[in-house]
Amino acid sequence: MRALVKLKPGTENTILDVPIPEIGADEILIRVKACAICGSDIHKFIWDPSMHMYEKYLPLIFGHEFSGVVEKVGADIKPDEAKPGDRVTINNVHVCGVCEACRKGMMTMCPEFYWNGGTKDGAFAEFTVVKKDQILHMPDDMSFIQGSLIEPLGVAANAVEKLGVRLGDRVAVIGAGTIGLFTVLMAKAAGAAYVTSIGLPSDVERLKLAVAELGGDDYIINEGQNAEDTVKKLTGGLGMDVVFECSGAAPMVNLALSLVKVTGKVGVVGIYAKNLELDLSTMVRSQKGLIGTFGGTTPYSRTFQWAKGHPELLAKAEKIVTHKSRIEDIEAALKRSADHESIKEVFVFD
Ligand SMILES: [Zn+2]
Ligand SMILES: [Zn+2]
Repeated sequence: MRALVKLKPGTENTILDVPIPEIGADEILIRVKACAICGSDIHKFIWDPSMHMYEKYLPLIFGHEFSGVVEKVGADIKPDEAKPGDRVTINNVHVCGVCEACRKGMMTMCPEFYWNGGTKDGAFAEFTVVKKDQILHMPDDMSFIQGSLIEPLGVAANAVEKLGVRLGDRVAVIGAGTIGLFTVLMAKAAGAAYVTSIGLPSDVERLKLAVAELGGDDYIINEGQNAEDTVKKLTGGLGMDVVFECSGAAPMVNLALSLVKVTGKVGVVGIYAKNLELDLSTMVRSQKGLIGTFGGTTPYSRTFQWAKGHPELLAKAEKIVTHKSRIEDIEAALKRSADHESIKEVFVFD
């Protein structure tokens, strides 16, 4: 099968012909149909310092936002669980579900924890292997591309739930990548009264999309004091109830803290290539909180149920997909992303 493999640390990404993986008795072989490129995949493709922790898993096939068709099932899997031909989207995270860490919601500490496309081979390939608890059967009207978006929607849902966005809240979302845009959608779905997106001048098309398609109320181009001034005016000087930092640019965490109200919380959702200096004393005196949110494990199946119940919102989420290409087109996809020409790139397979 064709696969896009990171063989060793560095900027190189190689297309290889590799054997179709074998499956165990409790595993399922998936013929991949769509696998979206996550912002974190771009960090891995260019191998920036925030991804060096993955070195011990190389060589590896990345790709964790995917859907496909069941090709083959292991001996222990019953037909009502999965059978060849089933259309499925995948929860890319596997945990045991019963250990103490799992029961306490600390999924990444589960001894059986792995995630496809991060610590185990993923889906930038024609086939990949998952466990039966990772598959979710898609309804007929959910496309493979829509299925591939359930994971990033789950990440946004996790952020919104962790920060406890409530009915009537005023929310700012910094960053207009996939997760920033989906956080706008999920904050509105959770009942926020007003959501504004904040981005750079080069993000303007994305910011407009947040308003036109994803339910955002407005956007702010972050130049000079623009963001602080606009939020001050908007909230009578009080600040936003909740601010999400989804850009991954470390200094934006300070901006987020300045935009949130006294006693308010900032959700830190980005992954940061650089460390940051923080004015902790101001943060302490104003009793503001910084909360890291990562992955979508807990609300993943609920996000899937939500998407099934709101096909019109899932169709709107799909509007962020600007480019469909093949794994061979990786370099062009990376260039489009770097040049801000694309929003969401998806690799498709026949
Ligand atoms: Zn992702
Ligand atoms: Zn566990």
